[in-house]
Order: sequence, then C-alpha cells, then structure tokens
Amino acid sequence: MTDAPAALAHVRQRMSSTALRYGRDPTTITLLAVGKQQSPESIRQLHAHGQVDFGENYVQEALPKQAALADLPLCWHFIGRIQRNKTRDIATHFDWVHTLDRLEVAERLSAQRPPGRGPLNCLIEVNTSGEARKGGVPVAALGPLVIAILRLPGLALRGLMAMPAPVDGFERQRAGFRVLREARDQLAHPAVQLLSMGTSGDFEAAIAEDADIVRIGTALFGPRSQPGLAPPGATLAPGVQPRTSPHD
Ligand SMILES: *Cc1c(COP(=O)(O)O)cnc(C)c1O
Repeated sequence: MTDAPAALAHVRQRMSSTALRYGRDPTTITLLAVGKQQSPESIRQLHAHGQVDFGENYVQEALPKQAALADLPLCWHFIGRIQRNKTRDIATHFDWVHTLDRLEVAERLSAQRPPGRGPLNCLIEVNTSGEARKGGVPVAALGPLVIAILRLPGLALRGLMAMPAPVDGFERQRAGFRVLREARDQLAHPAVQLLSMGTSGDFEAAIAEDADIVRIGTALFGPRSQPGLAPPGATLAPGVQPRTSPHD
C-alpha cells in the first residue's frame, strides 16, 4: 500500500526542484490532490501533512466524503465533467470548478451559487488537442466564452485548465501544455491568469510551461482500482482498499 505522506513529500520535492530549474518560485504552484476513489481517511491523512486542496470528479462520490471531512478546513475543486443536473450541488459544495466549457452551465452555476459563499472560482477547460470526443472548448472559441462568463456575478473567472492526452517524453508533454499557456498569453486578460495542468505522469513538463495548479492522484495515493475488475466478494466502498494483514 502506498505510504501517502511519503508520496506527498516526494511529489512536493519534485514540484519544487522543477520550479527552481525553470526559474519559478515553488511557493506559487498549488498541488491539487485528486482523491477520486480514495477514502475520506486517505484524504484526512494527507491533510494531517499539510495538504489543503482536493479534487473530485464525481458529485455523488464527493458529497459523502465532504460530509465525512466537514470538520477540516479543506478547499474542494470539481474537476470532472459537469452534468447539467449536478450544477446546484457543485455550486453549493465546491470552492473551485476546473471544467467549465459551456455558457449554459456557467449561467446555472452562477445563479445557483449560494449568496454569502462568494463567487465560485472557475477555470475554463480547453480542448488543446482538438480531439472531438474530449471535453473543453477549442482555443478559437475561448474569447467569447470568457467575455460571457465575466458578466456572471456568481462566478470568479481565474484561468484555464487542460488535460492533454498522455504522451511519452518530456518535450512532447511540454508541447501539449504550451498550447494552453499560449492561449492564456494570447488572451492577456487579467481574469485569465492561472493554468491548471499536469497530472502524475507529466506534471514536471506542465510546471516547465508555467502551470499554477497541478492535479495529482496516483503519484500520491497509488493506482486506482479499476471498476469491474474486483473479484467476487471484494465489494468495498469506493476507494477503500482491502486489508490483507492487520499490519497494513
Ligand atoms: C484523475 C484526474 C487527474 C489525476 O490523474 P493522475 O494520473 O492520477 O495523477 C487529474 N486531472 C483530472 C481531470 C483527472 O480526472
């Protein structure tokens, strides 16, 4: 089983050394721990080691975890596909949304944001690779969406997010992230500053291309279980690892 605190220290160390190598201030880069399929206990353990920002992909999975962790001052980021009928839960229970990619959803999130919680921090997801089946807006459609979102009082636009298809090799990884950085630089809008990009397999290349938020799951928590591959009788709550010995 992964030693999550050791993995956390290791990831932080890799983030810092990469930042320094590219002339960046390590303290300006946020580590977002992606807790999908992880138990509340794993999240609590990382928080005990100073981790505050946590990302979730599924509303149904996130809400009970958030309830179980309500005693901790965590910052919750929604990073999954946004279903229209889940916008109220997202607007109510999250601090950030990374995957905004259509105006209708933005309008609903803005209208449903509870007054008194302050505007919901938002990043627009950009489809940097042009793959038709992927979420995100094409770079060319970014400008009009930015203008429209800036008019919504319940949202605070902060930047852009991308999840390029995984590729091997640092330079090829960098090229994917460069598309997002250049889109941000070209917009040159004060509300569009932060770049959310980079996962366990490519966060160093993302930092080289100016990532402000890296979203890391498996490098912190170990591999996720594959739904449908569990042996019969091994039914556990999502994210709960089977115990094979009392010393695990
Ligand atoms: C799962 C996920 C991640 C984390 O991926 P790892 O490879 O586990 O680090 C990051 N971003 C998004 C949008 C994800 O769905």
